Amino acid sequence: MEYELTKSKYCKGLQCLKMLWLDEHHPELGEDTASQSVLDNGTRVGELARAYFGEYELVDFCANKREMADRTRTLMGSADNIAEASFCHGPLFCAVDILHRNGDGWDLVEVKSSTEISEIYLDDAAFQYYVLAMCDVAVKGVYILHIDNTYVRGEQLDIRGLFTLENCTDIAIRKFYEIERDGRLDMMSEYVNMPAEPGKDIDLCCDKPYPCAYKKYCGRDLPEYSVFNLARMQAKKKYELYHNGIVSYQDILSSGAGINANQKRQVESVVYDKPDEYDIDEINKFLSTLSYPIYHLDFETFQQAVPEFIGCRPYEQIPFQYSLHVEYEDGRLEHFAFLAKEGTDPRRALAEQLVKDIPMGVCSTAYNMSFEKTVLKHLAAEFPDLSGQLMDIHDHMHDLMVPFQKQYYYSKAMQGSYSIKYVLPALWPDDPELDYHNLEGVHNGSEASAAYADMVNHTPEEIAQMRENLLKYCGLDTYAMVKVLKKLKEIAGKR
Ligand code: SF4
Repeated sequence: MEYELTKSKYCKGLQCLKMLWLDEHHPELGEDTASQSVLDNGTRVGELARAYFGEYELVDFCANKREMADRTRTLMGSADNIAEASFCHGPLFCAVDILHRNGDGWDLVEVKSSTEISEIYLDDAAFQYYVLAMCDVAVKGVYILHIDNTYVRGEQLDIRGLFTLENCTDIAIRKFYEIERDGRLDMMSEYVNMPAEPGKDIDLCCDKPYPCAYKKYCGRDLPEYSVFNLARMQAKKKYELYHNGIVSYQDILSSGAGINANQKRQVESVVYDKPDEYDIDEINKFLSTLSYPIYHLDFETFQQAVPEFIGCRPYEQIPFQYSLHVEYEDGRLEHFAFLAKEGTDPRRALAEQLVKDIPMGVCSTAYNMSFEKTVLKHLAAEFPDLSGQLMDIHDHMHDLMVPFQKQYYYSKAMQGSYSIKYVLPALWPDDPELDYHNLEGVHNGSEASAAYADMVNHTPEEIAQMRENLLKYCGLDTYAMVKVLKKLKEIAGKR
């Protein structure tokens, strides 16, 4: 059977031909790479954008693509806007997000839920332009309709304000000729029909423009510690080393490859199996900046491409939950938590509770505090009557990440990273109480956001369970901070 080439397959083929081959012959080797909330946001944006030009007709999805194309042709006789307008030409198929009538021709509009245009979107639009040209459709303009991140939601959602329409006709025409000149579409079909797996090696294309689902499979021969584990090195440089045969940590040391002091520490700690290293003076200096009682704070947030609440921008981090562990000098702990009611604007209730839970002038901490500080600033701007208290928390906040970011404490288990995901198990290995894998349902921030956003779609019993999962997850985040500080104090006391 002839290989059907769609716009998403074409874009994959541009990224890496082997990806197309694996999709066709061994899809079971791939792993899920897209998060559910990203997919949900994309679907919501796509559906909303259909009405951007006014009333529209929708071509319903159907397994028989010819039927979709026939339905499109019928609608082109009467409708001004057609969503999912479908076209087939030989093995080529595309469904245009919006086909908009423009005088005696049509504008092709590709909808994206992102806030800016990337090269691959232009390739996507150019492929559609090519298919429509082959189908003798008079395309007058090629546009990308994407989210405008300066939009602020008012009482009513303003679709014209939410989106911005960019004219990409000239680029689409240029790319159209590239498709023809390179014989790209035939080449993709031939590649996919090769009987044996192509011998393509890993490269920059494995992550750009999208992380490939076959990374684990294609990188299966890499050693446990390789050049790809090096922290804060550009991907381009990693692949340069890799293609020059510098792959393992041993290779890096023996080749004298140019790495910085922190990367050298990362590599040597593994190769020489070094014990943990500390700078007790610096740890003490950091600890002396804290004062009891200490308020360990962590927010959970979610983002909406289409803002539902007044005053919100697209993709703004909207806090819906926090956990707060209060640590006293004698070691006593108190725990406070807030989790908004599902389906409501959580910001006001959360801000009011937070300023009740954290008194003015006290010392607070966060791990990677720039996130918590941004949330506090947004809340302060939204609720001027609470801004004094919210900014007081902001101004008295300390970052527990600093001793690890500056490597006052370094363990080989941190693998050059100072993210809590690496630091916590390095400080407290094999502690089941601190193991996020032991939690039910919610194990990380993305799952927490997705659970909160999805809660409205569940039964009361399920919601009760989801709320419990969220409370346990966020509670562990701040308990982890208590344990991080405990370890720093232990080290400081070693002197
Ligand atoms: S992991 Fe890299 S080489 Fe393998 S299919 Fe994906 S992009 Fe191609």
